[in-house]
Amino acid sequence: MVQKNLIDGEWIAGSEAFRNINPSDTNDVVGEYARASAEDARAAIAAAKAAFPAWSRSGILERHAIIRKTADEILARKDELGKLLSREEGKTLAEGIGETVRAGQIFDFFAGECLRLAGEVLPSARPNIGVEITREPVGVVGIITPWNFPIAIPAWKIAPALCYGNTVVFKPAELVPGSSWAIVDILNRAGLPKGVLNLVMGKGSVVGQAMLDSPDIHAITFTGSTGTGKRVALASVEHNRKYQLEMGGKNPFVVLDDADLAVAVEAAVNSAFFSTGQRCTASSRLIVTEGIHDRFVAAMGERMKGLVIDDALKAGTQIGPVVDESQLNQDTDYIAIGRQEGAKLAFGGELLKRDTPGFYLQPALFTEATNAMRISREEIFGPVASVIRVKDYDEALTVANDTPFGLSSGIATTSLKHATHFKRNAEAGMVMVNLPTAGVDFHVPFGGRKGSSHGSREQGRYAAEFYTTVKTAYTLA
Ligand code: NDP
Repeated sequence: MVQKNLIDGEWIAGSEAFRNINPSDTNDVVGEYARASAEDARAAIAAAKAAFPAWSRSGILERHAIIRKTADEILARKDELGKLLSREEGKTLAEGIGETVRAGQIFDFFAGECLRLAGEVLPSARPNIGVEITREPVGVVGIITPWNFPIAIPAWKIAPALCYGNTVVFKPAELVPGSSWAIVDILNRAGLPKGVLNLVMGKGSVVGQAMLDSPDIHAITFTGSTGTGKRVALASVEHNRKYQLEMGGKNPFVVLDDADLAVAVEAAVNSAFFSTGQRCTASSRLIVTEGIHDRFVAAMGERMKGLVIDDALKAGTQIGPVVDESQLNQDTDYIAIGRQEGAKLAFGGELLKRDTPGFYLQPALFTEATNAMRISREEIFGPVASVIRVKDYDEALTVANDTPFGLSSGIATTSLKHATHFKRNAEAGMVMVNLPTAGVDFHVPFGGRKGSSHGSREQGRYAAEFYTTVKTAYTLA
């Protein structure tokens, strides 16, 4: 059965369909999904526009009930949805279920936020005048998501958009439509009025572009590559619309001489290789001071030998396959580039064969890398990391910040002085001390600076900045 797009409350088949393939076993077709056209996208935008006046004035209890019901169903179905996610994206079942639970928690959080909408009442600078500051929805929000977090990223964009009274046109990554289809189905059955949430699965160059080109989309929130992010920005400037971009990183993880070696290795392996390195918060630059360098590299090698890389759904798998062939080629190209640049491939980097045909890659660790190499400057988005040797903390901080990106930054140290200094001086939106660079909470702000992000933060109460617009009203008493 082909899973359809949701436009104006109707499930629409369209003229084309595409297949969702399991990267752990390319013979396994996860499902077939309708491919929306540019015309479908325009119909979805028109439906969202028509639904906006009523939804933007809907009661907070109605919104609360729908979002809360969605949270409950996602959490009740976490094993099934987590399995679907792991099957289509290739992260391990534990990671897939964990991400699904996080999506449920995000909907639960924003169900609560509906009930906490507040403004401010202030005295005016002039006598006998009152000032009220209120937040209003922005209008039709376009949501464009990547393949690496198929349920959590849609959740952390859709939940606040609806909570604050916006209507939505949602385009998930074509590679992983299953999880997105599932949450739209849940929201639809939870009682959303027609047109409030529209799903248009299909090609970014067609459906996404139709969204960028529409004057009727008032805000676009995007997560994905830097190149597409720039397109979103340019088109949004053209239409004078609000936009928010999350575009990845080249996140540093600093290991100081005084670090607890076991803590440092565990955090580094997690940062660099878990979720197959396909996280925008992954660390691919391990910046290590010289007193601990050799011990750290040896311990990383030992730890990497024990990693189980296999079918995402198999019990015991710690790292699943790369998401598809094109990403696998990007990863192996960078491994070749690292070698050409003079870094030493100390461990891994080989293609692996498993029981089923899939995109299996042994995590790769380069040593003797410099921060000037392409493998240290460009986002690889796979299980490939480099060790950069530095003299001391000061040089480590300089190298950590010497990057066009600024999403997440980590340090392993037992020194309060260095931890405190690093938290203050790391040029990143998120800083981790003795923790992996990836792995964040659902109720606090997420986002970066420099080339990683544009616009206000996502998640937690800070999400209101993007999904609402502020009104200041003056009244003569
Ligand atoms: P893209 O930026 O191409 O895709 C992200 C989303 O944008 C997808 O839904 C995509 O659609 C859509 N899109 C593509 N072209 C357009 C367009 N012209 N107008 C509007 N929307 C468009 O990233 P990829 O998924 O192809 O990944 C490529 C690289 O991006 C990765 O290797 C990685 O380096 C980086 N990346 C970073 C992420 C992060 O979290 N920071 C997440 C994912 C990727 P479609 O489904 O057709 O691709």
